[in-house]
Amino acid sequence: MKFYYKCTECGLTFDIKPNVRVCPACKSAQKANRPLRGVLETVCEGKPEIAPEVDSLKFIHCLLPVERHFFPPVPVGMTPLWSPENLRKQLRLPNLYIKDDTLNPTGSLKDRASYLVAAFALKYKIDDIVVASTGNAASSMAGIGAAAGLNVKIFIPAAAPRAKMVQSLQYGADVTLVEGTYDLAFDKSIEYTDKYGGLNRNTAYNPLTLEGKKTVALEIFTQSGSAPDHVFVPVGDGVILGGLYRGFIDLFEKGYTDRIPVIHSVQAEGSSAINRALETGDFSDPIASATIADSISVDVPRNGYYALNMLKKHSGRGVTVTDDEILKAQNMLASSAGLFAEPSSASVLAGLLKVRDKINEKDSVVLVVTGNGLKDIDAAMKIFEK
Ligand SMILES: *Cc1c(COP(=O)(O)O)cnc(C)c1O
Repeated sequence: MKFYYKCTECGLTFDIKPNVRVCPACKSAQKANRPLRGVLETVCEGKPEIAPEVDSLKFIHCLLPVERHFFPPVPVGMTPLWSPENLRKQLRLPNLYIKDDTLNPTGSLKDRASYLVAAFALKYKIDDIVVASTGNAASSMAGIGAAAGLNVKIFIPAAAPRAKMVQSLQYGADVTLVEGTYDLAFDKSIEYTDKYGGLNRNTAYNPLTLEGKKTVALEIFTQSGSAPDHVFVPVGDGVILGGLYRGFIDLFEKGYTDRIPVIHSVQAEGSSAINRALETGDFSDPIASATIADSISVDVPRNGYYALNMLKKHSGRGVTVTDDEILKAQNMLASSAGLFAEPSSASVLAGLLKVRDKINEKDSVVLVVTGNGLKDIDAAMKIFEK
């Protein structure tokens, strides 16, 4: 297998090395208050020597740009794809599945990206990792970094849910609270790495974040034996969405599947830049985000251009839900499926409920549930306080 980075805008290619982040040519077109220009995707050439049905884990590692022995000894991914029987009946969708990524070591899907970034750091003997986050990317990098023996410095908004900050402290990260939004934390972390060095893990800015998240698509495929008809995913910066597309595109290009699922980009009404752009055709000036679902609360979606292109190209759909719908779906998911998810993650069920009548009963539908409900108990209490 041969791996290299390719600019998602101009197509220029680059070797996979620590100092390569966004495409230098497209970066010059960067405007303030717009998504990142020149986000890089990882291309893998060749076909894995192992068939997915022979050894799915080996198959997946064949499609990743860092050799398997560099990955830290912590059980990331291979989360269950299971059948929520009560929800299936309630929604009249006998082929509904949950991909339960709350079961990752630090409780969120972010571990998939942190895992690949940590393996990459170990391969290149880099000791220091820096990341800005709304909370989960930080606690994830802190935890996976701890297992890998790395030093992790994080920048998070002072208003981030307490549990995510406590997790990061427990894992031994150096935590800087930023008086301001995630967007400010993002800028501060980049200033920091420009000045002091270390590997920056910021979402989309580090190409391995997009690449690491593709494993969720590869697993959905190996666990069910095919690509589903529909996938619902929560969207903030659009890197999980991009990773899903990357995974299904790899499978498609290498001939394992003959289709790319319809991916539903679920956003909160108070943070819906990507879905708005899907309607209007492009990104406009940001609207300050305001939603209970902190993990998908972003003003400027970093991976916006790539996410938008993929949605357009592969007939993806935007579904926008209110905070009220999210909190109701959170309770429904917990009380009927037994899965307690944080608000961002429960939004996928809210999204499915909203467009249920546009989906055929026979279709296979996967809800990607990205983060554990215990990460933000204040949000989860709201529905009972009314
Ligand atoms: C980060 C995150 C998301 C959103 O992912 P993006 O790549 O920012 O779109 C959704 N759910 C959880 C739990 C997250 O931590």
